[in-house]
Amino acid sequence: MKPDSSDPTRREFLKTTSMAALGALLASTMPEPAQGQTPTAVPTRAFGKTGATVPILGLGGMFDIPTNQLVLRQAYQWGVTYWDTADCYGGSETGMGMYFEKHPDHRKDIFLVTKSCERDAQGMTRLLEQSLDRLKTDYIDLYLVHGARHIDELSDEIRRWAEKEKSRKRIRFMGFSTHANMEKLMLAASRLGWIDGIMMSYNFRLMHRDQMQAAVEACTKAGIGLTAMKTQGGGSVRADSEAEIALVGRFLKKGFTDKQARLKAVWENPHIACICSQMPGMTVLMSNVTAALDQTRLSKEEVDLFRQLALQTAPSYCTGCAEICEKALDIPAPVSDVMRCLMYCHSYGEPERAEAIFNRIPKDLRDAMRLADYSKIQRLCPQKMPVARLMREGCRTLDRRFRYALRKDDAAIQPVSSG
Ligand code: SF4
Repeated sequence: MKPDSSDPTRREFLKTTSMAALGALLASTMPEPAQGQTPTAVPTRAFGKTGATVPILGLGGMFDIPTNQLVLRQAYQWGVTYWDTADCYGGSETGMGMYFEKHPDHRKDIFLVTKSCERDAQGMTRLLEQSLDRLKTDYIDLYLVHGARHIDELSDEIRRWAEKEKSRKRIRFMGFSTHANMEKLMLAASRLGWIDGIMMSYNFRLMHRDQMQAAVEACTKAGIGLTAMKTQGGGSVRADSEAEIALVGRFLKKGFTDKQARLKAVWENPHIACICSQMPGMTVLMSNVTAALDQTRLSKEEVDLFRQLALQTAPSYCTGCAEICEKALDIPAPVSDVMRCLMYCHSYGEPERAEAIFNRIPKDLRDAMRLADYSKIQRLCPQKMPVARLMREGCRTLDRRFRYALRKDDAAIQPVSSG
């Protein structure tokens, strides 16, 4: 049967094929940079007022890096030289360290980012030294307090610690990452005067919100370099959304996929210096590099379509406004984190990651969360999410203690997006 080239599936295949061809072309026409030269394929932007420039596409390091060294090699060669990791990303730091041990001359070209789960000077020093050791380097370009939720986590003690480590030349810049209360935290951080960089959830769902626009503007004025993460806004197109399917068809006609379009929507904002994207294999790396190199811009109409899609599918997406949940409950249940776990599980296909994060919640709190009344949050939630149902599902399916007691129909749980 003659294939129908107007069929989106086929066009996607053709697109993938052409990306593969482009990848091969990139690989064959871009020799390794000569000694002293910096790789320059992906466009770069200034990182706030730090004086550093970074590629608009960065490599998120939450995958099995020790056995995927080729991804680092190819990322370097294509100019994806912003590398992100964290002390708690399994063997990620060690894997990047393996790479730097083998290619010591590449270290100076990499804008290396890692994060600390600690919140006091002593703990930060311990984890920084551990990161330096694992990464086989003597400095970190951007050191982040990992997953900040409240401004008091960025204490004066941390400021003094950062100043000391900068003077010792063990870190160049200091900041934090966040996927809860992002906008409030960014606004407050813009007034601190010592934050160099922020990595926050930012995508077509969040970028149109007034509070996010105000937060980005304040950070830009303060000279803070901004890195966007969670840029897919909850994963792939879902077959139950006509609006999403229509949007996919439209982008395919222009020559790129909806995943690439979501990156482009973020790059439309010139104040976002870099997108940090998880790229665990060559296919995703190639697709994202292709999007970064492609000059085609989204039309105003397409940006508006993304805005409409965000509104239409709001109840499937948690915007991380954790303070609303926290104030409405009489137990400290991290509702937005549970929503994020469900996103990793259902939208990203990463149940192990979801389980690992969920089971860090203390056992007593997990027990209390199973019995809590979420009806108040459900009324307050700006996204009108079915919070009670999702919390019940999260507590039942992600808690390792109940793994073997799951009913067969748990497989039918609907996808949910967050972060
Ligand atoms: S569940 Fe609703 S109120 Fe709670 S953080 Fe998510 S979007 Fe905000």
